[in-house]
Amino acid sequence: MKELTMGKVVKLEDVQVLLSDSVRIRDRSRVEDMVNSLVRGGKEKLQMISDFDRTLTKQHVNGKPTLSSFCIFSQCRQLPSGYKEQDAALFQHYRPIEIDPNISREEKAKHMVDWYQQAQKLLRGFDFQTEELEEVIRREGAELREGTDKMLQSLQAAGVPVLVFSAGLGDSVSAVLRYHNVLFSNVHIISNYLRFDGLQVNGFQGDIIHSFNKNEHAIEKSDYFQILAGRNNVLLLGDEVGDAGMADGVQNAGTVLKIGFLYDRVEDRLEEFLKHFDIVLIDDQTMDIVNGILDLVP
Ligand SMILES: [Mg+2]
Repeated sequence: MKELTMGKVVKLEDVQVLLSDSVRIRDRSRVEDMVNSLVRGGKEKLQMISDFDRTLTKQHVNGKPTLSSFCIFSQCRQLPSGYKEQDAALFQHYRPIEIDPNISREEKAKHMVDWYQQAQKLLRGFDFQTEELEEVIRREGAELREGTDKMLQSLQAAGVPVLVFSAGLGDSVSAVLRYHNVLFSNVHIISNYLRFDGLQVNGFQGDIIHSFNKNEHAIEKSDYFQILAGRNNVLLLGDEVGDAGMADGVQNAGTVLKIGFLYDRVEDRLEEFLKHFDIVLIDDQTMDIVNGILDLVP
């Protein structure tokens, strides 16, 4: 493995993890070029952009879907009665639109804004203590993929910035990462955080992040954007087609290697995933492939 990083050209067939049954690649020679470009750039040119729900966390544990960041919130016992039902009704209405391959991104984006605005109306006028999120995580479990901890530790050690982009609930995202001891100083979360007036919840802070507007344009004015200067190679991880656009807005983007995790409705969605992601992983609940690629980058 070492020789590969000493200036030799990487051949995809020599990258052991990419021989796994879960790996699908539409254009092997393009991916080979991209991997070589990441290797040449090294970790000092690299940044990671990752989705949170079902990307850093598992998609399922023994067939049971893991709790999303919003679901962790809705499991809290201190929420007013009726909240869960009303929130579930919004999900039933908008989620099919979010994943419908026959609706354009632009059209979906409008519906997503409606969804979050409706959701925000439910998030008003009650007290909420965020400490309960950790209780739910401990009780219900919010498992990271196997190897997510190793990945984040090695990125931290190498000083590679990690942007966690989530259209979910930031308070839960932070709580899960903190619970698993991987909320390192190189991890920056962009998500929807609850706004409080005193103890009372009052919608979300700032602009809504939904599945079709999460990209680096959202952070252009932040200090974090400065940290990314010169890091034009990106390793992008996601589990929804919308995640593939997260590197839009990266300045002077070089190589953006996109890895997509696909679990449910594989047959319906594989073609679309292969269009948007360079490497698609089918029902792989680990970070083995990502860690294997990172190991090549000096
Ligand atoms: Mg996700």
